[in-house]
Amino acid sequence: MEDCVFCKIVRGELPASKVYEDDAVLAFRDIRPQAPVHVLVVPKKHVASLMDLTDEDAALAGRLFAAARAVARQEGVAESGFRFLTNTGPDSGQVVFHLHFHVMGGRRLGAMG
Ligand code: 5GP
Repeated sequence: MEDCVFCKIVRGELPASKVYEDDAVLAFRDIRPQAPVHVLVVPKKHVASLMDLTDEDAALAGRLFAAARAVARQEGVAESGFRFLTNTGPDSGQVVFHLHFHVMGGRRLGAMG
């Protein structure tokens, strides 16, 4: 996707503070962190949102979860706890339409709503 900001980060056309990378997944620090640890875990291939994953993406979904666990360990929040979430669609406040999971921790997080 030519104009997708996260595709540009994946292609190296925009800078990002990378914390994890493998052949299918990239994780980088959120540009406007809402917590001491705030990392975005994204598939390298363009998928607009959770609702656009298909049955063929089952392995990719597992890879995203595995990457999130690796990020949590690396960032030191695996034991203290963290939030792992993806905003999906207008009511959620999703602003970047390239699937991404927020890994947030490093402080006591408030209630969601
Ligand atoms: P959501 O779509 O789930 O609401 O959130 C998108 C997230 O992407 C936001 O937390 C925002 O700060 C982050 N973000 C948007 N553009 C960039 C960017 O160019 N670089 C990085 N590292 N994060 C970004």
